[in-house]
Amino acid sequence: MIPRALAIAVLLALAGPAAAQEPLPFTLKQIGPGVYAAIDGPEHKAGSNAGFVIGDDGVLVVDALFTPGAARALVAEIRRLTPKPIRYVVNTHYHADHTGGDQVLRDAGALIIAHRNVRGWVRTNNIALFGDRITPELKARIEALPLPNLVTDKDLVIWLGARKVEVRTVLGHTGGDLVVTVPDAQVLFTGDMLWRKVAPNLIDGSVREWAAADADFAALPDAARMTFVPGHGDVATLADVHDFRAYLLDLRRLVTEARLAGFKDEALAHAVTPKLRALHPDWTITDRAAANEIRHMDQELAGTKKRPIPLPE
Ligand SMILES: [Zn+2]
Repeated sequence: MIPRALAIAVLLALAGPAAAQEPLPFTLKQIGPGVYAAIDGPEHKAGSNAGFVIGDDGVLVVDALFTPGAARALVAEIRRLTPKPIRYVVNTHYHADHTGGDQVLRDAGALIIAHRNVRGWVRTNNIALFGDRITPELKARIEALPLPNLVTDKDLVIWLGARKVEVRTVLGHTGGDLVVTVPDAQVLFTGDMLWRKVAPNLIDGSVREWAAADADFAALPDAARMTFVPGHGDVATLADVHDFRAYLLDLRRLVTEARLAGFKDEALAHAVTPKLRALHPDWTITDRAAANEIRHMDQELAGTKKRPIPLPE
C-alpha cells in the first residue's frame, strides 16, 4: 500500500507542469454576456489591451496584442470559453502593440479588419514608432506583419449570427483608428482613443481631434451605463472618459501657457511636467512619456506636427 503522504506527493508532481505554467500576460475580465477584456498587467507583457465578443456563430477579437506569445495566450483563453470559430480580428489602429499578434489570429482563422490606412503603415511606420528602441528582431517582425484583409474608411456592422457589432471610424490618435461597439452589452472598445490613468502616446495624434472624439464618446446616449475598454489601463467608465479628455485639455493648456512664457524644448518639458502631474496625481506619467507628449503638443500648437500620410492602395 502506498503511504498517503507519498500518494499526495505523486499527485502534486503530476500536477506540477500545469501549476508551473506561465501566468497569463493579461488579466481576462468578463464585461458583459460573452464579452471579455484582456487587460495588460503592470509588467506590460501583453503590450496593450485587447478583447473579444462571442456571438452566435463565431468570435470577433479586438486587437492582437504586441507579441505572438501574448496573442497565443488570448487564443487559448477564447478556446477555453468557446469552441466557436474565431472569425475576425479588428485592429483599432496600426501600432505594433495592437497588431503584433495578428499572424497568430490569422492562423487561428480570423480575417483581419482595419482602417484602410493601416495597410500602408503597419510594416513601415511601426519602425519609426520605436525609434532608437528598435532591435533587428523587432524590425524583422514588423516587416513581416500580415496586412489587413478587409479595410474600410467607413463605419461597418458585423453580425455574429443575431449579435450586432458596430465598427466605427474615429479621428485623433493616428489618422486610421476604429472603435468597436457591442450594443447589446453596452460595451465600447476604444483602442487608443482612451487611456485610463496613463499618459497617452501622441506621436501620430491630433489633440484637437482626439478631445473632440472623446467628447463624442461621453455624449453617447448610454454613456453613463457603458463599459469602456481603453487601449491601455484598466476597464473604464464614463468618469474615466471625462478624466482622459480633461488630461488632454490640461496638457494643451499647460503647454500653451508655457510657450507664451517663452519656454522651449527641454525647459518646456521641465515647466509643464510637474503641473500636469499635480493635476492628475493618480496617473502614471513617466519622464519619458511626459517629455514626448509635451514635445508632440508643442509641435501641434506650432503647426509643425508630422502625422502619418495615407498612402495610395
Ligand atoms: Zn497602444
